[in-house]
Amino acid sequence: MDASTQSPPRRRSESRDPVTGDVFRNWETTDDAAVAAAVARARAAQADWAARAPADRAAVLDRFHDLLFARRRAVAEAITRELGKPLIDAMAADVTVSLEFARFYAREGPRFLRPRWRGVGNLAFWRKRARVERRPYGVIGIIAPWNYPFWMPVSGAMPALVTGNAVVLKPSEFTPGAAMLLQDLLREAGLPAGVFEVVPGDGVTGAALVRSGVDRIVFTGSSAVGRKVAVACAERFIPCALELGGSDPAIVLADADLRFAADGIVWNRFFNGGQNCVSPKRIFVEQPVFDAFVAAAARAVGGLVVGDPKSAATEVGPLVRPHAVATIRAQLDDALAKGARIVAQAPVPAGDGFFPPTLITGVTDDMRVMQEETFGPLLPVVAVRDADEAVRRANATSYGLSASVWTGDAARGVALARRLEAGSIQVNDAVNVVGMADIATGGVKASGLGRHHGLEALEDCVKSTPVVDDRFARWRQPWWFPYLPGHLDAMDAFTRLSHAPTLAGRLSGLVGTLRLVLTRKGRA
Ligand code: NAD
Repeated sequence: MDASTQSPPRRRSESRDPVTGDVFRNWETTDDAAVAAAVARARAAQADWAARAPADRAAVLDRFHDLLFARRRAVAEAITRELGKPLIDAMAADVTVSLEFARFYAREGPRFLRPRWRGVGNLAFWRKRARVERRPYGVIGIIAPWNYPFWMPVSGAMPALVTGNAVVLKPSEFTPGAAMLLQDLLREAGLPAGVFEVVPGDGVTGAALVRSGVDRIVFTGSSAVGRKVAVACAERFIPCALELGGSDPAIVLADADLRFAADGIVWNRFFNGGQNCVSPKRIFVEQPVFDAFVAAAARAVGGLVVGDPKSAATEVGPLVRPHAVATIRAQLDDALAKGARIVAQAPVPAGDGFFPPTLITGVTDDMRVMQEETFGPLLPVVAVRDADEAVRRANATSYGLSASVWTGDAARGVALARRLEAGSIQVNDAVNVVGMADIATGGVKASGLGRHHGLEALEDCVKSTPVVDDRFARWRQPWWFPYLPGHLDAMDAFTRLSHAPTLAGRLSGLVGTLRLVLTRKGRA
């Protein structure tokens, strides 16, 4: 058959067990027409949803919260089956954090949506009233990654839904099942049909969603794809929020409790199989405590339990797909070829899906592990002369997602945090901040655009629309045409009354202002 007459290769969206590699469910990939139909269904449903009282919408979030709580084990097990993350990680970082987000936005949404009266400035305070309404965008497209296949969509959807938007979600091609589970729970909680649509598929489907006529995009994924999405959104003049990759530094100061710092950094790096956006990926340790820190971290890494994610004892599971293992292995090989040394490695079961949690030293800035995002269980540790060198090297990256400082002196930690170029910084912890529903996070540099979570996410889901009315509807504005003789002086009097630095200067503008306000007439 001629290549031009062959049908294009079938694009797959499938649920696969990462331990065995077995596909346990295939999903129809959504083509352009079906994406457009989903967006049309969402748009049709959105008007009624937006017309509901905010408290009614919040009640749906509350019911979703209660249903998710009741089914928490089953949801965590489904996530673990599809992604291979240890069951405890699915429970903690997907289910529990999703519960937090549902409760936060159910509580804060209606409060946030109350119309606000705003000042109208000196020019018009005596006659005008300004009410700022928060209007939903309409249909918000969410494009999600696979590493938090339930919580990432929840964190984008909760603020969008409570503010009266409809959502069309494009999940990762590796984790469509978790998105479908979310849709089922939302429907069962009473969300009307059409208000939350899911379009399973790959990057082609994601690109179709951006072009489909949605009113805003919330993208979470790699910086490379985020750049393409930002360009496509710019072409359509629609706003986008981008939550992208990271290569977070952790700075360990000589006054830190080293056992605590090592255990903390190892958990923050290796939970979720090390497949984390926010996570300490480059560790800078002050020289005097470098050996002691490495020894403590080596004990922690070497003792990690790697295995079947369904077992409650497993601490690190398989990576999402064999290509993820190949990438992290290539990054390790590059480091070893350039002189790095493996200090500790946890044993792994046989199978393509596993990569041994690994600690390396002898790391230099030209290595891929220092230049690129590492998305797996690999931890490079670097000795630095002092805190100044640590800050300089920590900031020497194109990324700026998050950072951490580990120290026995909280005030010193906070002072150092101010010098780090990152969207959020924690002292003596690292990842926890992104699970706090009321804290806005986000990246700087190549790690993202916009703030996510918190009240800021609600702000991003609405168009703040001022409606200004006038108590004296037929009273002409003093600055309107015609510009007759004396108008300039009268305007100057008004400016003096409003802004002169002394009381005498202000009063000097009173008579002219009254004349201006009371005597304006139209052209004869
Ligand atoms: P990815 O960029 O490969 O894919 C993300 C999503 O974009 C997927 O749904 C994918 O199908 C879709 N996509 C691919 N090409 C597209 C295109 N041209 N147009 C529109 N959509 C497209 O990322 P991933 O491998 O799924 O996730 C891992 C990445 O996500 C890492 O870089 C990680 O740091 C990042 N991440 C960031 C955060 C954060 O909060 N900053 C959170 C989680 C993950």
